[in-house]
Amino acid sequence: MKPIYLDHNATTPLHLRVRQAMQDALAIFGNPSSIYRLGREAHNLIEEARQTIASFLGAQPQEIIFTGSGTEANNLAIKGVLRSACEWMHRPPEAFHLITSEIEHPSVLETCKGLAAAGVKVTFLPVDRHGRVRVKDFVAAITPSTLLASIMLANNEIGAIQSIRALAREAHKRGVIFHSDAVQALGKIAIDYRKIGADLLTFSGHKIQGPKGVGLLWVRRGVRIRPLLDGGPQEGALRAGTENVPGIIGLGKAFEVIARKDLRRSAKSVAALKETLRRGLMQRIKGIRINSPSANCLPNTLSISIEDTEAESLLMQLDLAGICVSSGSACSTESYGEASHVLLAIDLSTEQARATLRFSLADTTTRKEITEVLRRMPGIVAKVRSISPSYLARTSGKKHPRRSRTT
Ligand code: PLP
Repeated sequence: MKPIYLDHNATTPLHLRVRQAMQDALAIFGNPSSIYRLGREAHNLIEEARQTIASFLGAQPQEIIFTGSGTEANNLAIKGVLRSACEWMHRPPEAFHLITSEIEHPSVLETCKGLAAAGVKVTFLPVDRHGRVRVKDFVAAITPSTLLASIMLANNEIGAIQSIRALAREAHKRGVIFHSDAVQALGKIAIDYRKIGADLLTFSGHKIQGPKGVGLLWVRRGVRIRPLLDGGPQEGALRAGTENVPGIIGLGKAFEVIARKDLRRSAKSVAALKETLRRGLMQRIKGIRINSPSANCLPNTLSISIEDTEAESLLMQLDLAGICVSSGSACSTESYGEASHVLLAIDLSTEQARATLRFSLADTTTRKEITEVLRRMPGIVAKVRSISPSYLARTSGKKHPRRSRTT
């Protein structure tokens, strides 16, 4: 039986048109920096992809910097802007202040923690219980030394969408550069990226039916940034290294596929399926907490905690049933047992965070698949609860020592 794949925030299958374009691109072996015909051929294909992406985003082609991943683009945005400010203002990194949030993807969070450990001042803003940064907290955090703020557009674990336009406006009023990780928003919601006002935006290929190992940073003209890698002058001297030609062509094709979609319509139908899933789970299983906000949320993302279960056991049982979902986030599968920082930030206990599943749908998800998941889930939850010490203790009337919350 074909697996039921409900983990599109972790990654997505390659779109057939992307796969075809990449297969064709594998035959293009010239180095895009070479001036003879074979090189120019590769170069032209990269520039075509850049043009496609720029026109979808409303950017200038030269503002698009291809990178090896969304992770790299986030690193480049934050460290590259800081590095540039240090150089042209002749000041050490410790002279600058950065703002981010507690629920960022690790590629932003760990970058900021690393910089904080090296002496840069960093504010990690808390979020409300819906996972939203409060604009007043953001404004209050800005100081005269604030250089850059990095706040994600949409969260990968719970789907919360931030008021990026308002945050960017407040940042700009105070001369602060604004970066947003838009990896999870792209292709899921209709956004005019030009109008949200961010100075730098990160995107990744494999979340939009494009290839893995390719991402991009949109750097608005006028934003000062330095490269992280020393080497050749590729990508406007901002990302050294011979370009991943098939990857970039695949990324361009994935943007082309999105551009042809009616995102408003597909968001609506995905949201309707998600609602069927949410309602069906609530009706069939007791002790469910919904972690995804009901408003300002990605239409495809549903995070739930199921009392008296462990996500690991649920995932194993779901896998046996041919259902692919995730616990919290894919990035935390290597650190099983560690509660998700996002879930703790919206005030879940460690216990609740460890009992969390994330369903992430796509416009290819069918009603039949959702029906099948709803049919399977009660039995799976009952099985996992049947060996859960807390459930057994509660249902037999004995007291179970609750684990304390760690942050
Ligand atoms: N930012 C967000 C919000 C993500 O969800 C991810 C991937 O999970 C990334 C950044 C990193 O992208 P990549 O996998 O291309 O490094």
